[in-house]
Formats: sequence, C-alpha cells, structure tokens
Amino acid sequence: MLPPGSTIGILGGGQLGRMLGLAAAQLGFQVHIYAPDRESVAAQVAARHVQAAWDDEPRLAAFAAACDAMTFEFENVPIDTVRFLSGHVAVRPGAQGLEIAQDRLAEKQFVAGLGGRTAPFAPVPDRAALDTALAELGTPAILKTVRMGYDGKGQARLRTDADADTAWDGIDHHAAILEGFVTFAHEFSVLLVRGIDGETRFWDSSVNVHEGGILATSSLPPPQIVLDQQDEARALMQAIADALDYVGVLTGEFFATDAGPVFNEMAPRVHNSGHWTIEGAVTSQFENHIRAIAGLPLGNTDTAALPVVMHNLIGTSIGTVPSLLADPGAHVHHYGKTEVRQGRKLGHVTWVGTSPA
Ligand code: AMP
Repeated sequence: MLPPGSTIGILGGGQLGRMLGLAAAQLGFQVHIYAPDRESVAAQVAARHVQAAWDDEPRLAAFAAACDAMTFEFENVPIDTVRFLSGHVAVRPGAQGLEIAQDRLAEKQFVAGLGGRTAPFAPVPDRAALDTALAELGTPAILKTVRMGYDGKGQARLRTDADADTAWDGIDHHAAILEGFVTFAHEFSVLLVRGIDGETRFWDSSVNVHEGGILATSSLPPPQIVLDQQDEARALMQAIADALDYVGVLTGEFFATDAGPVFNEMAPRVHNSGHWTIEGAVTSQFENHIRAIAGLPLGNTDTAALPVVMHNLIGTSIGTVPSLLADPGAHVHHYGKTEVRQGRKLGHVTWVGTSPA
C-alpha cells in the first residue's frame, strides 16, 4: 500500500494522464509524467515532467528511481520501454496486456482463445493475403492495421472485392487484419477495475455513439439489449483480466448483436467511454485506477444517478464551453490543449441525473 506522499509515474502526457494526475493528487500522491512531447496537458497538473524519448534508458532509469509505482495512459508506449522500466519499479498494469492490445491480431486471437465472440477475422500481412482473406470472409468487411490504429485511423471499409486495392492503399500497405462487418444494434463498453489481490469491480455499461470513428457520446442507462448482454461481456472481461493478472482499469468495447455481445477491442487503461464516472459514479475510473496501482482498497463503482450523458468536445466544438458553463447541469472538462485541430479531443462535458438541454 503506497502511503500518501508517494510518487506515481505516468507514461504519456495526454488528457487521460491529466485526469489520472488529478485523481492521484486527491489521494495525496505526487505525479511525475514521462512523455516525449513538448506540450503535455498531463504535465500541467503534475509535479514533474521528464521530456525524453521512449528509448532513452538513462532518463527512463532516473525516472523510475524517482517513482514508487508506475502506470501508463498512452497505449502505444513501446513494449520495450515498459519491460525496461519493470526491471526498476512496479509498472501496473504489466506489459502483457499492453502488448496484446497493441496488436489487433494477437488481441483477437487471445480473446477467441478465452472463448470470447469476435468478428470473423483473418490476418493480412501483405496484399496477396487480402485476396485470400476476402475469399474467406466476404464483404462488407473492414481492413484494420494491426498496430497504431485509434479513433478510426488505420482503417478502410470494403463494400465489394473491387475495393481491395483502394483499401490496401488506404492503410499504407501496413500489416493488417480483415474483419467481417458486424451488424450491431449498439456499441457499449465494459469498464472494470482489478486490484492487486484480484478483487474486481465493474461500472455500469454505457452505450457509445461514434462519429467518423471517434467516440462522440457515452450515456446511461443503455438500451435493454445492452443490459441483457452486459453480464456475458463482463464474464469475458473478467476472464481477460484474470488471465493477465491485471491491475488497474481495463476497458472492453463490444457490439450488442442478435447473437450476443461481440468483443471489438480492449484498452489496458482508463478510457474515454469511462469519463462519465468522474461525476456519474461514486468512484471514478481515474481514482480507482490510482487506488488499484497503489494497492489501496477499491472504491464503490455504483452509478450515482441516472441518466448520465458524456459528450466529447472535439475540434471547434471546444468553442461551446462558455455556453456549456451557463448550463447548471453541465460538468465541463477542458483539457488545456492549445491547438484546435479537427478530430482532436479537447474536452468533454457530463450531465448526471439530468438530460442536456
Ligand atoms: P475500432 O478502432 O476497432 O474501435 O473501430 C472503430 C469503429 O468502427 C467502431 O467503434 C465501430 O463503430 C466500427 N467498427 C469497427 N470494427 C467493426 C466491425 N467488424 N464491424 C462493424 N463495425 C465496426
């Protein structure tokens, strides 16, 4: 159990690190950020920012020496970095879940191996394999790069076989997987926290709406089909967390379909679809992640009041903050990013126990 005043290191400097840092501060911890980028919105609320490359071993070792425990907020931290740091300080969750989540093929195989239902998939290491995969899965289908895909990037949709060349060019000829297109009623998340002793708690599932591949809104209560499929999805996420001896918050994204919940992907970290828990749950995902990695008792994950709506402020919609602040029910979060770019997540707003006007 880390005593107050201990230092928690966070790898990555974005808004997830910022919100983790705020939660850590509430519990009396110091936060140090390690991120290569010059601008770090996490570092704005942290005691220290080490701006260095992911492979700078002397700087990594010095960073680890100053920390009592470490976690990551960025899913593409190189696995070698996490392994190196693990030799110096407890990194929670460990490298294994991160390594699997960084590789869509390994992730699908891992989850299928645990008995989870996934979209039909086939490996596409090269252009010839795309034809083989199309013959096997048919269309419509989605081609996704194995690595570095997020917020709909590194993906191409194929309506017919004739789209193969365009899709292959669209993902810059990177190693990929082809997924059969899943017809789903809704998308939802399973958000859990698992402690060092294996105790696991779940938050209620939100229904998620994406626009242009980017999460736009998460809300609760979800439709009945999600409520009906939540337990089966939870059982799979529990099996994943147990298999990895996972510590911290783990997120699973699912499709609710006529055949039951279909696992889409997981994130070995706090997640955008869990931002509603800051005001909408007794204990937020950020606080419980810090509690878990610090070896503290986990907090109550009950929903505080319904309905809950979390809406992302993306690109120029950050300009609505002044009017949102005039809404007495709106909890506004501005991430402190200076550059407004299309598709960039710049803030979010949450309503709890009341619907947005
Ligand atoms: P992902 O990066 O895998 O989360 O994909 C981004 C979004 O694309 C998802 O949230 C879904 O809306 C959609 N999507 C991804 N994979 C599939 C699939 N196999 N079938 C249908 N829609 C999908």
